[in-house]
Amino acid sequence: MPADDASPPPVDPMDLRMGDVVRLRKPHPCGGYDWELVRLGAEIGLRCVRCDRRVILDRPTLRKRLKTFVSRGAPLDPAVERALYGGEAER
Ligand SMILES: [Zn+2]
Repeated sequence: MPADDASPPPVDPMDLRMGDVVRLRKPHPCGGYDWELVRLGAEIGLRCVRCDRRVILDRPTLRKRLKTFVSRGAPLDPAVERALYGGEAER
């Protein structure tokens, strides 16, 4: 895949988990930067941690706006995680 001009975030933005909290480059009008992932699919549901409002972004848009992960959601079942990410899952 060709690299984007912007430097990529430290965590693969496609490696998303329910309950992840992410920080975006631009603040929400309420002043909050942090969003919790509440829906994963072709489109990503995000809930503003500060004001509780929800938005839907498609993956390419989220990828562009995502600055960093604030905290990670609970990992998948270890067996599933190994199947997805290889033998040595991080703890
Ligand atoms: Zn907000």
